[in-house]
Amino acid sequence: MNDVKLALLGSPGAGKSAVLVRFLTRRFIGEYASNANSLYHKRLSVDGRQLNLEVFDPCSQGSGARRVLEEPMDWADGFLVVYNISDRASFSNAKTLLRQIREGSNGGCSSFREVEVPVCLVGNKQDLCHARQVPADEGRCLAQENRCLFQEVSAAESYQDISILFTQLIRQVLEQLKQR
Ligand code: GDP
Ligand code: MG
Repeated sequence: MNDVKLALLGSPGAGKSAVLVRFLTRRFIGEYASNANSLYHKRLSVDGRQLNLEVFDPCSQGSGARRVLEEPMDWADGFLVVYNISDRASFSNAKTLLRQIREGSNGGCSSFREVEVPVCLVGNKQDLCHARQVPADEGRCLAQENRCLFQEVSAAESYQDISILFTQLIRQVLEQLKQR
């Protein structure tokens, strides 16, 4: 059975935990405050293949995200970089995170990686489109520049898009694991 390890990155409040909980439970709970980094496990099957999924969700306060990037950059097989479409600062942060991931996977601290790590850029809170600060096209362009998947989602309102996005990312990771 394959182990697939994903890490969530993004500004505090962007909705990382909400997106993850929506994927794992199909539900939106609303408040996910946690003072600790969390590691979630789930067994699932993608394209008929059983796998153990582990997802690292950094705590909102503190330097969880930085720790993922500095130390276990090699831990994660794939990343979800989450921003909030109604918060431009979170988009700028996503830009920085993508750059750090791409620098990390092109040699640098993880020189054993021969191919780029699969990444998905996630524009969350699509339901807040009346307060939108980041056009969808900008998200799409940033994703293209960084050779990653892109999807706008609403953890608050919909499971479908989030499920598709995790499945696509996991598929890319499985492809890479097969080639190792
Ligand atoms: P994190 O710090 O990135 O893990 O963010 P959280 O998952 O804790 O979410 C931060 C806040 O945004 C919480 O109050 C959530 O209820 C809210 N939130 C998360 N996703 C959505 C969404 O898709 N739409 C709306 N309107 N609110 C959301
Ligand atoms: Mg959180």
